[in-house]
Amino acid sequence: MNDLRLEDLGSGTLGAIISYTIILVILLLTLLVAFRLLMTRRKIGYLSITVSLMILMAQYGQLVYFQLNPDISDTAAFWAMMLKVFSFLLVNTGIYQLYNPTRLRDGVVFVVCCAVTAVISLSYWYIPGWLEGNGSQIKLLQPLIVELFLVVLLFISFLLVNSRIGQNVKYQLMLTLYFCTQMIHMANIYVFGGNQPVLMKLEQTIPMLFHLILFLFIVERVIELMQAIYNSSIRDGLTQLYNRKYFYNRVGQYIAGRISVSVIFSDIDNFKKLNDTKGHHMGDQVLKQVAGIMREETDQIGICGRYGGEEMVVLVTDPDTDSAELAERIRARIEAETIVTVSMGWSRHKKQMTADELIKQADEAMYKAKTSGKNKVVAS
Ligand code: GH3
Ligand code: MG
Ligand code: MG
Repeated sequence: MNDLRLEDLGSGTLGAIISYTIILVILLLTLLVAFRLLMTRRKIGYLSITVSLMILMAQYGQLVYFQLNPDISDTAAFWAMMLKVFSFLLVNTGIYQLYNPTRLRDGVVFVVCCAVTAVISLSYWYIPGWLEGNGSQIKLLQPLIVELFLVVLLFISFLLVNSRIGQNVKYQLMLTLYFCTQMIHMANIYVFGGNQPVLMKLEQTIPMLFHLILFLFIVERVIELMQAIYNSSIRDGLTQLYNRKYFYNRVGQYIAGRISVSVIFSDIDNFKKLNDTKGHHMGDQVLKQVAGIMREETDQIGICGRYGGEEMVVLVTDPDTDSAELAERIRARIEAETIVTVSMGWSRHKKQMTADELIKQADEAMYKAKTSGKNKVVAS
């Protein structure tokens, strides 16, 4: 019986099986994350990343099988090649879809790529008569066109996908690693006759890194999507200020924590007239502009919210900030930088006051500003 030595784990059949098994485990973890994403979001776009991971698993499962049964038939080699090229196509489509809505045009590009790939794959079975030498040469030539086509697909992916997704550094690294593996594979097969041990080892280990980065890519995308969902649940879509519910809750939290706070309530003057004369689109632009000024002025000293249509509020949390001065600064900037003015009221929290009462007081102060000429700040 042969003794198993440590270096056997890194080379030969056992080394290859270990490498492929590690990749299969990484793929299984990635599949679990992608499947979870598919189930929670139920978006058709996430299907291709899930399917591509399954195909990749089939591909590496087959590679393990080939290590155990080295007598590979032509048909088995053909299907191995098909799994490799189609899993590459699908992974890139899946990555693209993680960042883009499903569109008919993209579907057409995908179908065309698949059709071209399928036609080119048929070259496996047709070797020109003048090339027919001995059997082993034919075996080498059969997949050559598809191997070269895979390099073309790599460049196409870079051109079509890279500029349309996030996490570009990770994606570029993945393509580079795939390119290196492909070059090493081709050098090993066509230059060194397929048995250069160092190249073989590299061909097995670089894909581990590729799949690890693919895993990180998908996990990070899931985190990005979760953050986006949370953000849209607490922010107003137009101005990106906090929505009324979130703002109200934050006021409540500060009051419960006995932290001294003030609320500034603002309402744009004659906004209905602006909408009527200049249109709703212009009205929206002005809302964004006003929100931007409020956000800039309250950065680090409080939080801003959109309370209603053209009513915006500030919770001043910094104890050293004078709310009257802050409100006046915001009012003056809006008057100078936009085509509207605002009326503002502010109120400081006093003992036993609830969040509702504090906001209501600031609102009443704003109302006083409205009824006494607008474009001014009034204290409660
Ligand atoms: P006042 O000076 O008394 O505040 O007059 P006003 O015209 O600003 O007050 P009013 O409450 O009558 O009008 C508010 C208008 O704000 C009505 C509505 O059409 C407009 N509005 C509310 N939300 C939006 C929005 O998201 N976009 C746009 N463009 N307009 C909005
Ligand atoms: Mg108004
Ligand atoms: Mg109003």
